[in-house]
Amino acid sequence: MPMSQSFKDRLFPIAAQLVDHYGSPFHIYDEVGIRETGEMLKKIFSGIDGFREYYAVKALPNPSILKLMFDMGFGFDCSSIGELRLSRQVGARGEQIMFTSNNTNQVEFAVAAEEGGCVLNLDDISLIDKVPEFPELICFRYNPGPRRTGNVIIGNPVEAKYGVTHEQVVSAYRQAQQRGAKRFGLHTMVASNELDYTYMVETARMVLEIAELVESELGIKFEFVNIGGGFGIPYSPDQAPLDVDSMAAEITALFNAFRAKHQYVPRMYMESGRFMTGPHGCLITSAINHKNIYRDYIGVDACMSALMRPAMYGAYHHLDVIGKEALPKDHIYDVSGSLCENNDKFAVQRELPKIDEGDILAIHDTGAHGHAMGFQYNAKLRPKELLLRADGSVELIRREETLDDYFATLNFKVDQFHPAQNKG
Ligand SMILES: *Cc1c(COP(=O)(O)O)cnc(C)c1O
Repeated sequence: MPMSQSFKDRLFPIAAQLVDHYGSPFHIYDEVGIRETGEMLKKIFSGIDGFREYYAVKALPNPSILKLMFDMGFGFDCSSIGELRLSRQVGARGEQIMFTSNNTNQVEFAVAAEEGGCVLNLDDISLIDKVPEFPELICFRYNPGPRRTGNVIIGNPVEAKYGVTHEQVVSAYRQAQQRGAKRFGLHTMVASNELDYTYMVETARMVLEIAELVESELGIKFEFVNIGGGFGIPYSPDQAPLDVDSMAAEITALFNAFRAKHQYVPRMYMESGRFMTGPHGCLITSAINHKNIYRDYIGVDACMSALMRPAMYGAYHHLDVIGKEALPKDHIYDVSGSLCENNDKFAVQRELPKIDEGDILAIHDTGAHGHAMGFQYNAKLRPKELLLRADGSVELIRREETLDDYFATLNFKVDQFHPAQNKG
C-alpha cells in the first residue's frame, strides 16, 4: 500500500492545523514509519553476521532524517561531496560511509579521504592509479553486463555506465593489491524499485559468486559484499509489496551455504534509499483553483519543483483529499501545478471525490526522490520539509526556498576577462 494507515491516522486529523501554522505546500515525513522499516530490515537480516544498511543519502538528504538512520546503526551511501559532508555532519566516520561515486574527480577523492576517510567504492579500473593515497580497504562496483538482464527501471547492465566488467574484475583487485590494498569489499547495484524479491536473491547470489571467483584467483577473502539498493515500494494500491520475509530467508541461506563451503563469510551490506523513506513521506498541498476547459483541472499550490517523479517518469503517486477519503470518486481531474510545462501534473485523468478550493491533498510516497529531486526552473522554488515525531509533535526540518536564495547566485564580484587578441 502507498501511505500506511498508521501514518494517515496520525497525519490527516492534524493536516489543517499544520497548513494553518506552516502554510502549504510541504513534505512531511514519519519518524515512526522510518524507524519501523529500519528495525524490520535489521530483524529480517539478523541471521547474517554484520549486516548493515548504508542509507542512500540522495533519497532524502536531510540531516534530521540522517540522524534517525545513524541512531539505528546505519551507515551512509554517498556519491558526492555534499552527501559526504551531510553524513559527517551527523557524526558518521570511516567505515560508516561508502563513497560510491562515478566519473570521480580529484576534489572528490580528496574530500573522501578527509576526516578519517571512508570506504572507497571504485567505479572503474582507470581510477585505481588516480586515488592519491590508496587506502588499505577498497571496494569495486561490479557490472555484470550481459550476464544479467536489468530490471525494468534501471535498464540493461550493458548500457549502464557504472562499474567494472566481468572481464575486468579480477584484474581490478590485483591492481589494487599492487597499490597496497589489504582489505576488500565488493559492490553492485543492478535494480531500482524492484518489487520481485527473487531479483534481489539473484543479486546476492551473483556477488557471492564473484567473491568466490576473485578469491580463487587472488586468495582474497572479502570482508563484505554490498548488494546495493533497489528494493521497491508499491506506489499504486494494486501493487503487491516486496516479499521481504522470503527474500531475507533465501539470501540468508545463500550466506550460510557460502560459510559452509569456505569456512568464512563476508558481511552483507545494502544501500536502500527508496525503501527506507519513500512511503514515509507525503506532499501536502492545497487546492487553490478549479478550471474547467477540455478537461477538469484542480490547481494546487505545489508544482513539480516539489516532486518531479510524475512529470519525469510518468510515475503514479496515489493521492487522498483529506477528509473526503470515504466519498465516492465520481469526478475525473488532472491535478496540476503552476509551472509552464504541461507535464507539471501530479495526477492525470484520476478518479477522485469532488474537490473544492481550500481542500488539502496528500500526495503519497514522496519520502524518496521527492524534495531531493526538486529544482528551480521557472523560478518555482522548493517547499519546506517537516518531520512528524513519534510523540506526535511536528518539527520544521528545512525551510522553504525564498527569492533571496534564488537571487543568491547573482550576487558576485564583477569578473570580466579580456582574451588576448588573436593577431594575424
Ligand atoms: C540510488 C542508489 C542507491 C539507492 O537506490 P534505491 O533504489 O533508492 O534503493 C543505492 N546505491 C547506489 C550506488 C545508488 O546510486
